[in-house]
Amino acid sequence: MQCTHWRRVPLDMAREARERSAAECVDRAVQCQLSTHSGDEHYGLLGDLVEYGIALWLRWRERIEVSLAVLPDCPAVAPRPDSEACCLFAGHTEQHTWEDVSPSRPQVR
Ligand SMILES: [Zn+2]
Ligand SMILES: [Zn+2]
Repeated sequence: MQCTHWRRVPLDMAREARERSAAECVDRAVQCQLSTHSGDEHYGLLGDLVEYGIALWLRWRERIEVSLAVLPDCPAVAPRPDSEACCLFAGHTEQHTWEDVSPSRPQVR
């Protein structure tokens, strides 16, 4: 399960993200990309930067602070033939995105 927290992106941060990333537009609100987790620090993806392997994230805490974080991509790759790269950032907590497979979803063969 992905974390269900959303955060509105403050206008100045959206503008900065647009200037620094390759994205044409930046979402008005982002969802935390981590798997359901404890703690109140959430990370929403704003966009990939022009430099390869680095992305811009919105980091926030419940009702307290919002900040921009430039983080390198997580280097982990799934140990499977159809290996997918993890969509999170290096040093994240919780599971890699490819570990977070919902048990209700049937495996594709
Ligand atoms: Zn979260
Ligand atoms: Zn990862």
